[in-house]
Amino acid sequence: MGTGTGGDSAVRLVQLYPDLLGTYGDGGNATVLAKRLAWRGIPHELVTVESGAPIPEQGDLYLLGGGEDGPQVEAARELAEQGALHRAVERGAVVFAVCAGMQILGHQFPDAVGQPRPGLALLDVQTVRLQRPRAVGELLVQPDPCWGLPELTGFENHGGRTRLGPAARPLGRVEVGEGNGWGEEGAVSGRVVGTYLHGPALARNPALADLLLGWVAGELAPLDDREVEMLREERIRAARQGELQPRRSWKDLIRRG
Ligand code: GLN
Repeated sequence: MGTGTGGDSAVRLVQLYPDLLGTYGDGGNATVLAKRLAWRGIPHELVTVESGAPIPEQGDLYLLGGGEDGPQVEAARELAEQGALHRAVERGAVVFAVCAGMQILGHQFPDAVGQPRPGLALLDVQTVRLQRPRAVGELLVQPDPCWGLPELTGFENHGGRTRLGPAARPLGRVEVGEGNGWGEEGAVSGRVVGTYLHGPALARNPALADLLLGWVAGELAPLDDREVEMLREERIRAARQGELQPRRSWKDLIRRG
């Protein structure tokens, strides 16, 4: 299914398996990318591919969202079988994957009972289950200066923890929250980007959206992001002050008034 203002030179966005990886609202990332292209008058096409359907290989930017442990295994199996994402990445396509999406792009990740399952090995990471509580709450990240990005904000909700191999570099260092699990957040190998940030991440971090779009569409005209900037400031302040920490019990609720 295609929507948008496509054409031969249109930027092709491909949203993968929202039926399996759609639990955390990350489908909004595709909407944000399409809108930021539309606002700039750049022709684009957004294709949504449900599980079981063939994946187009000529996409410019592929998106994967977060999901539950079971559907995540199914998504990894189907993506490996089809091979289309591998071929697209070999061609230089960009991939932006969130949480379960990032985990399945790595070498391995745990299933619902903690058993390791093979990933797609498109990102040099490995995800494991540790004796730690689920990481739930706001996530605030100071990006590595190499990305030229301001603070990254979002929320996280995951049981797995992700280690980077030598061919991946993190998006940044965690200021609030847990991220990958060892002080870093996200992973980038070439043009394959993974993150634990939900929000959706690209709605809360338009500069990250433009970093990805710049890789496929070249230099981009600036947009008026003042409204989202106000939201960002409020979220960043609240995360720093711990206002958005999950409330774990009724005692906690009383203590916080
Ligand atoms: N099921 C995975 C985990 O818990 C991913 C969760 C998610 O995508 N938010 O680690």
